[in-house]
Amino acid sequence: MINFFIKTYGCQANVADSQAISNFLTNLGCKKVEIEQQADLILINTCAIRAKAEQRFFSYLGVLAIIKKDKKHLKVGIIGCVASYRQKEIRRRFDHVNFVFGAKENLFELQTLLSDFVLKIQMLKQFVSDQIQNSLVSFDKRPPSLKLLRTRRTSGEKLPNAVRGEPVEPYEQSKSLLLGGFKNNKKEFKQSYVNIMTGCNNYCSYCIVPFTRGREKSYLLNLILERVKRDVQNGAKEVVLLGQNVNSYKDPQTGANFATLLKKVAQVDGEFWVRFVSPHPKDMTKDVLYVMSENKEKLCGFIHHPLQSGSNKILQAMNRTYTVEQYLEQIDWIREILPDATISTDIIVGFPGETEKDYFETRKVMEKVKFDNIFSFIYSPRKYTKAATFKDDCSAKIKSERLEALQSRQVEICYDLNNCHVDKILKSLVEKRLANGKLLARTAGNHRVLFDSDEEKNGNFVNLKIEKSGAVNIFGYLIE
Ligand code: SF4
Repeated sequence: MINFFIKTYGCQANVADSQAISNFLTNLGCKKVEIEQQADLILINTCAIRAKAEQRFFSYLGVLAIIKKDKKHLKVGIIGCVASYRQKEIRRRFDHVNFVFGAKENLFELQTLLSDFVLKIQMLKQFVSDQIQNSLVSFDKRPPSLKLLRTRRTSGEKLPNAVRGEPVEPYEQSKSLLLGGFKNNKKEFKQSYVNIMTGCNNYCSYCIVPFTRGREKSYLLNLILERVKRDVQNGAKEVVLLGQNVNSYKDPQTGANFATLLKKVAQVDGEFWVRFVSPHPKDMTKDVLYVMSENKEKLCGFIHHPLQSGSNKILQAMNRTYTVEQYLEQIDWIREILPDATISTDIIVGFPGETEKDYFETRKVMEKVKFDNIFSFIYSPRKYTKAATFKDDCSAKIKSERLEALQSRQVEICYDLNNCHVDKILKSLVEKRLANGKLLARTAGNHRVLFDSDEEKNGNFVNLKIEKSGAVNIFGYLIE
């Protein structure tokens, strides 16, 4: 039996890819383990979006070198965004890494690669065991899945197009979708992360994604639906549609847009909720909001609408291709069509050239919109991006102060907004039991609700009456 371990950094798209890879390896007869020391194959799914995530990956890689010293047959593979753009450097600096496979590539190529490594590890382990027992184990005693692999690799079966350097057909790209999901029917909260597209064409000046994940490619609508149906039948209570730019989705076969996709996903039978991340304001259309409004039972009233900056000067430098005025008009659309929807956003503080005035323009938008949640970061220069060449004369200290002030104000806003839910009854989906003994559930608007119950209710929809609120959590009790 070959044990594998996957460490995943970064966004939900990476989580979805790791889930697909885990399924593939499990189907080969391998076993997923939670501790690196028990693994024969370690995969690190990397994130390049901020320098910190990369630093964490590189220090972790150092730790693996120590484990590998004592375990000669251990294979280490690096996948994901850092693998895309620092491939040569990783190979040069870390000789305990056995393969590097970038996020731009097709998951089907990765399957072929992993199949080879699984075979190699199996043979190495067998060799060591043979030496110990001083006897030969016959080829036929290997697990059937491995025999099958060997047959496949030597039978002259065509490799995926991408390996031969030919354009990858939409179907071939999209098939990787079906690798994801889960199969067991254990009673637990199950989220289905479904990548509906990959890559990005937008080239925001600070972002490395177009370099690491390549150009935008939408997956086939019928395969997305097949995957959603399968996961819902297997117990998924929440489906999260993922992509770098979900609302520019376009079915390669029919040209169907994101609104049509959402509508069709909402028509899938079963009791489940649907969320999506991340849309881009430049692609926002009212038809998506109307579909959400007509399908509230399934499509959660929650929109992540990334602002990045409240200054038109900075937005232009970021190449975001919308203005603050256009962004605010879209917020009005949301409020009008989906009055109960919660809205979250991303904000980058300290982008090169951001003055005090620019910063306060962002703060003004915050006050105007009153976001339910903000994911805020200090700008982190990334190699290859245009913004990395911009002059940046704002000190790290000022940037930290700006971020801290913005986050403190957001805590106050969250507290006030959450307080409005007191005495309401909110339908919520139970996720897990926390260390403090309370159950954690999430509302359609993505609020965290904590409540008491002796019963394990993970994966159940419940009605909770809200008693009190905080900035991060709200507290309620079960209504039968
Ligand atoms: S839209 Fe901009 S920030 Fe988002 S992935 Fe594409 S380039 Fe990066």
